[in-house]
Amino acid sequence: MQDKRNGGKPLPLDMCGIVGYIGDGNVYDVLIKGLHRLEYRGYDSAGIALVNPSGKLNVYKARGKVSNLEAFCEDKDLSAKAGIAHTRWATHGEPSDCNAHPHYSEDGNLALVHNGTIENYKVLKDALTQHGCTFHSETDTEVLVQLIEYIKVKNNCSLLDAVREALKQVVGAYAIAVVEKDNPDRIIAARKSSPLVIGIGDNETFLASDATPFVEYTNDCVYLKDEEVAIIERGKPLKLVTLENKEAKIDVTTLEMSISQLEKGGYPHFMLKEIFEQPATLHDCIRGRVVNGGKKVMVSGVSDNKDKFLNAKRILIVACGTSWHAALLGKYLIQDMCRIPVEVEYASEFRYSNPVLDDRDIVIAISQSGETADTLAAIKIAKKMGAFVYGISNVVGSSIPRETDSGTYIHVGPEIGVASTKAFTGQVMVLTMLALSIAQLKGTMTKDEIAEIGKAILKIPKAVEKVLKLNEKIERLSAIYTYARNFLYLGRGYSYPVALEGALKLKEISYIHAEGYPAAEMKHGPIALIDEEMPSVIIAPNDHLYEKIVNNVQQVKARGGSIIAIVTEGDPVIHNIADHVLEVPEMPECLTPIITSIPLQLLSYYIAINKGKNVDMPRNLAKSVTVE
Ligand code: GLU
Repeated sequence: MQDKRNGGKPLPLDMCGIVGYIGDGNVYDVLIKGLHRLEYRGYDSAGIALVNPSGKLNVYKARGKVSNLEAFCEDKDLSAKAGIAHTRWATHGEPSDCNAHPHYSEDGNLALVHNGTIENYKVLKDALTQHGCTFHSETDTEVLVQLIEYIKVKNNCSLLDAVREALKQVVGAYAIAVVEKDNPDRIIAARKSSPLVIGIGDNETFLASDATPFVEYTNDCVYLKDEEVAIIERGKPLKLVTLENKEAKIDVTTLEMSISQLEKGGYPHFMLKEIFEQPATLHDCIRGRVVNGGKKVMVSGVSDNKDKFLNAKRILIVACGTSWHAALLGKYLIQDMCRIPVEVEYASEFRYSNPVLDDRDIVIAISQSGETADTLAAIKIAKKMGAFVYGISNVVGSSIPRETDSGTYIHVGPEIGVASTKAFTGQVMVLTMLALSIAQLKGTMTKDEIAEIGKAILKIPKAVEKVLKLNEKIERLSAIYTYARNFLYLGRGYSYPVALEGALKLKEISYIHAEGYPAAEMKHGPIALIDEEMPSVIIAPNDHLYEKIVNNVQQVKARGGSIIAIVTEGDPVIHNIADHVLEVPEMPECLTPIITSIPLQLLSYYIAINKGKNVDMPRNLAKSVTVE
């Protein structure tokens, strides 16, 4: 299954929701209702720009959910003939009133909303500042609106021409909508890589990140293509042009999906959507960090804390749940690449373990939400004891980035499914790039070794796309194993944490007991459990432990257990022994976890579906564990 909105190509995952409306209906009501529908895309802040019939452009915004914006707007002038609105998932600048969209241009004549990231915003911002522009937010977005205004004034041109010219200078991803103070009858919108769809109603036009905000008003819509600009004018047919001002063809699509299907991009569950987003999320996670064709790897917070990383006598990684599995991979990666001893602790254990730490220790704290209570408590202890604390989280401006000395984001967009999928692969990717950055600094790897892995990292999104083609095979396979009561997941080396994570996924959403184990340890206990009713999932890519794991596979087979094996394409031996094999593309050993964990996500998803479980909201679990 693929999201068709971007011509089948994966969408970038800087999420945010955009909505716009021009027509005779109540502009404020349409926009607010639309924002509520888009809230699943992010809720760091919300804002609205209303073009008032008497030549005013009112912008109202508030940190947090759309309901905060509604409360803020209660006593405001809400009259409007057209408007645009936004719900934000911050990528540049913390969630705050001032960083909320829409952003005004310097002269207050324009207001703009944006979904995406402007990669060259720094260069553009510096140039505009030199020309006398003042910036009021930390966002990359404000650069766009200032640039449009600057071009409009300098060239004395129309808003459309200024938007086209500005977008030609932009590197990055955008879906934007712009309104102008003295023209309540027009909205200009455009996109590249971020989604934007226009809804065509009776004498009214809508625009939005997906069709949910307008599905009850019209089924006719136009999905904008990359680098197309839409001119939406009251009472006139929609017009599309390219950045070069050539008229573009309008393809009207008829919507046939319900609101909840639309929110999930056509997928039945957020979890499946998030599994399928991984080529895009990994692309976003890698973007700008692995450069020069893979020769250079940069993760924020490393070179600016050079002394800390050069002198570290030990690294301690603290995390919970899935993040703890990523942490365990972090240990293998950092030890391998940087030759620094690494320990991994459950944050909940660490905090009460009377730890021994000092200022030559680095503590890395990992949490998707950035709000995990135990991890936050561990950070506080580590800081108190003088350690340098580095945070890895997904949510910009959450507590972890605020409480730590330095850190980075995984940039995979909001994860809604309770069972973490894209955040896990994002965390592992960031830890890999972090280890490479430290190795670069310490000289523990040669330039060629770094370049070889860097080059392979750039191929990860494509490789993940290929792994996802196993979807139907895994769906069929799941039917055979739905009623197993226990599962064993086995792996060695880099595949051992993958086994732990695979087992956790199955437990979380299908409520089947599953144990992850280091394959060679199995003979010291769990092998006693194996019989024809206990399937084993064996993660056995082509790495330096392959020969060893072949023995473990034989041991399971000899005791009558059935085997599902994840192997590398062209696997020489295991496919003859295992009952079912799932082949994944060849990768350097340190990158195999990202590739091998994906079939396990799909397997647990389908088994849970076969059992009729609520995969997005499994019983007893919460997405962000903010209690001890
Ligand atoms: N980069 C913009 C910001 O941080 C938009 C974020 C997004 O679309 O995710 O405000």
